[in-house]
Amino acid sequence: KIILKEITKKFGDFTALDNINLKIDDREFMALLGPSGSGKSTLLYTIAGIYKPTSGRIYFDDRDVTEIPPKDRNVGLVFQNWALYPHMKVFDNIAFPLELRKVPKQEIEKKVREVAKMLHIENLLDRYPWQLSGGQQQRVAIARALVKEPDVLLLDEPLSNLDALLRIEVRAELKRLQKELGITAVYVTHDQAEALAMADRIAVIREGKILQVGTPDDVYYKPKYKFVGGFLGNPP
Ligand code: ATP
Ligand code: MG
Repeated sequence: KIILKEITKKFGDFTALDNINLKIDDREFMALLGPSGSGKSTLLYTIAGIYKPTSGRIYFDDRDVTEIPPKDRNVGLVFQNWALYPHMKVFDNIAFPLELRKVPKQEIEKKVREVAKMLHIENLLDRYPWQLSGGQQQRVAIARALVKEPDVLLLDEPLSNLDALLRIEVRAELKRLQKELGITAVYVTHDQAEALAMADRIAVIREGKILQVGTPDDVYYKPKYKFVGGFLGNPP
């Protein structure tokens, strides 16, 4: 599980995260939902270790990881602009995190093929990123994040560049994989339909504060604030 304890993040005088408390259970799919500028990405980067909180602590299980750099947190990251390495074929893109870890070649081969198969991109391994559609690139990015078998998968609006149909398809796939592999996922989105469809629980965030955490039913039918109901499309 992930525990965020009284996390505050300031950029100069500006408070981007204001005393965030949140517990994310093992194998849970948690959506961070909120408007543009509310602090979703900042919170995700803080969990990843890319940002260090100004105050507060972060725990993975019982381990205090607040001072631990991203590479030692065993998190998989998928970001909005999902930059693949343009000079590397799909296979090498996916293999890269394992190469870094000096995993033996044979094992890399096996793992890459396994994860590529799960995401239905096994026929694309010899192509370069520019020879792929946006949705295919997205799958490669997800494969690259999954290949090192992270305990935690952190996703920042990973589907926002896809068309509506593809988005729904990849949504369902991602959710299935997450459950199958038993990964804990934190998923940033400003799309309420996406959060409602995918998440076990949703944390609604505004101006650096978490307003409400609950199941999709909870936040939709029992919003604690007008803002929450309004943002989820169920205004009072
Ligand atoms: P969006 O949906 O547009 O991606 P968001 O919820 O992810 O928005 P953040 O990127 O977390 O929002 O930004 C929250 C606030 O913190 C914004 O006002 C932003 O300008 C500010 N901010 C984020 N990163 C920095 C930074 N490195 N330096 C200064 N201010 C920052
Ligand atoms: Mg963002």
